[in-house]
Amino acid sequence: MPQSEFELIDRYFRRCGAQRADVRVGVGDDAALLECPPGMVLAAAVDTLVEGVHFPRGCRADSIGHRALAVNLSDLAAMGARPAWALLALTLPAAEERWLSEFTAGFAALARVHEVALVGGDTTQGPLTVTVTLMGPVPAGAALLRSGASVGDALFVSGTPGDAAVGLALEQGRLEGLGQAEYLRERFLFPTPRVALGQQLRPYASGCIDVSDGLLADALKLARASGCGLEIDATRLPLSAPLRALGTERARAFALTGGDDYELCFTVPPQQLARLHAQLPPQQWGYTRIGSMRAEPGARVMGEAGELPLPTGGYDHFAQA
Ligand SMILES: [Mg+2]
Repeated sequence: MPQSEFELIDRYFRRCGAQRADVRVGVGDDAALLECPPGMVLAAAVDTLVEGVHFPRGCRADSIGHRALAVNLSDLAAMGARPAWALLALTLPAAEERWLSEFTAGFAALARVHEVALVGGDTTQGPLTVTVTLMGPVPAGAALLRSGASVGDALFVSGTPGDAAVGLALEQGRLEGLGQAEYLRERFLFPTPRVALGQQLRPYASGCIDVSDGLLADALKLARASGCGLEIDATRLPLSAPLRALGTERARAFALTGGDDYELCFTVPPQQLARLHAQLPPQQWGYTRIGSMRAEPGARVMGEAGELPLPTGGYDHFAQA
């Protein structure tokens, strides 16, 4: 890109997000210098969003900025870490001032909410691709891991999974005639990473993962990492009212296999359940028990009348029943 375009980008990114006292050197030198508090370890995550793969072509720029940070905030939330510092690598077809201003508005608004400072970045010319690296401290030995669950632990999910996948389908015109379409679109375009919940869960949860690829697939990753299996009670799945309008069977399939929710799926040992419910009331914190961990590997989904066939990766959400 010509020098003036670099200057343009510099203008948009130099003061983006929160200002933090623990940033000794931020944007503008060869590397950032960051202070990690004593007794803490650093959680670090990176995610790339590619146009046409992770968001539709022509997607609004403020959503791309929001989601690029949200997916990483969700990963840090799943570790119980407090987000602090972000790095942004941006590949752009052209440095359009309007696009950059909307993109940074979406990124910066979410960054300020979670007190994240943008401390460095890189720009290149090419097909639209956004990579964000996010780092943040977590007390040593206290991070939530996928591998910590045990047989008998209760299985929970936050929010109402499935909404984002329906929102994406609406956004792409693959689904029509649904009430509260705007709410569902928003769930895809502006997901809410469960940053506070992740940190609050540290004393209670035995295992945690964020739901990016679909609740069932991600819960299975947690179970495999923990050396156990899981059972989900489909009648307990927290389905939003707009999702329920699709009919119970399709709504459950979306909730189990739809991606892009950025909710937390976590396990809690039976002896911690009373304290969990007392300290983090489920209605206030927005989470629901959906099942349990069991010894037999793999997943089992139970319905009203017994075991249900597992929705597979190839399940067609859009096929009419
Ligand atoms: Mg993740």
